[in-house]
Amino acid sequence: MSKSMNRRKFLGHTSEALVTGGAVAWGAASGRALAAAEAPASGEDYYHKLGVIPFINAAGTFTVLSGCIMPPSVQAAIERAAKAHVNIEELQRASGEYLASRLHCEGALVTAGAASSLTLGTAACVTRGNDQAILNIPVNLSGLKNEVVVQKTHRYGYDHALLNCGIKFVEVETLQDYEAAFNERTVMAHFLNEETRGQISREDWVRVAHQHGVPCFNDAAADVPPISNLWNYTQMGFDLVAFSGGKGLRGPQCTGLLLAKKDLIEAAMKNNFPYSTTVGRGMKVGKEEIIGLVAAVDWFLCQDEKAMQAEFQKRAERIASQLKGIPTVQTQIFVPPTANHVAHLLITYDQDRIKITGKGVQEKLRQGSPRIELNPSTGGGPAMPGLPSGDNTIVVGVWMLQPNEDVIVARRLREVLQKAAL
Ligand SMILES: *Cc1c(COP(=O)(O)O)cnc(C)c1O
Repeated sequence: MSKSMNRRKFLGHTSEALVTGGAVAWGAASGRALAAAEAPASGEDYYHKLGVIPFINAAGTFTVLSGCIMPPSVQAAIERAAKAHVNIEELQRASGEYLASRLHCEGALVTAGAASSLTLGTAACVTRGNDQAILNIPVNLSGLKNEVVVQKTHRYGYDHALLNCGIKFVEVETLQDYEAAFNERTVMAHFLNEETRGQISREDWVRVAHQHGVPCFNDAAADVPPISNLWNYTQMGFDLVAFSGGKGLRGPQCTGLLLAKKDLIEAAMKNNFPYSTTVGRGMKVGKEEIIGLVAAVDWFLCQDEKAMQAEFQKRAERIASQLKGIPTVQTQIFVPPTANHVAHLLITYDQDRIKITGKGVQEKLRQGSPRIELNPSTGGGPAMPGLPSGDNTIVVGVWMLQPNEDVIVARRLREVLQKAAL
């Protein structure tokens, strides 16, 4: 697996529930999902035809692992949307207005992923009020503001999404640096939603940018749940916020949300498909995916946060309980503070007693039947600062598991570890 799939590492870090009103418990909802999965599927099995073997996702929401599985209501909405033509501009506008009202912000746009949200939001800031500029970026920025202020520790694998607009980064470390970084060329202030990675808080980031009349962006791509994050950051004052559609929201993998002030959404839309002469023309989102993300947001807003988190915790505990009695094996459940804020299981053991590395276990599960993919932090850097790491660690992401798959993962882990035990 490439390291780009591991967000934590990539960023340089060592790194169904109650339907309120309907009162359907998580278990029942999961049961429905299972029933849907077991119903005879219509259509040809193209994974089979192409020889691409699906796997049990005990990793989490990773792009290279195809994101998430959409809940039945989302799949059904997509299937229905696929049966009619609509005008894309009308659909973009109507879906944006609906999402903005549901997410308590001024404006919203369905994009081709959080990375597209970053590009379109940046393009909006650079070209606002200047239609000629839409044609000129990213090659000709003469006369345009083009400096984006960012904390040095917030430079990351998604820088390119902003650079696509022709901007230049201006790095700062302290609050004092930040206050001094603004000038007449400053077009935007960019924040990665991991406060602990830098010295400057979200609140200070917004306050200082606004003192200088500069819009500020928060990349919160992987930061639901909690559900309330969908409005926390816009309400905190961020002018633009990006979320992935295909991570915790469980929408189509190729979608994202851009939530922003109304004028910035208007400007972002001018830089987007269906218009040909734009930086966003390659970021097409079909009617099926636009509807899919709207349906995913509806689904997500119906979830009971506590029940959802409790279910993930229970899955991690169930797997841990099946590993009891294997010599030296210890388990620990942890919840990352921001991104992927759900229960994960960390397994450690003494390699003098269990003669296999974490990477070895990962490979055995990957090659087994059924295939299982463990979290990419397995056998590597700490999944979270302060946690054990290295050759003798295994990380299980439980939140993308389908019903009963935790049992299979536990059984396979037990088999592999027990077999390697002296
Ligand atoms: C996943 C992620 C992205 C990209 O999201 P996509 O929806 O895959 O485009 C951007 N920023 C951060 C911090 C992410 O975790």
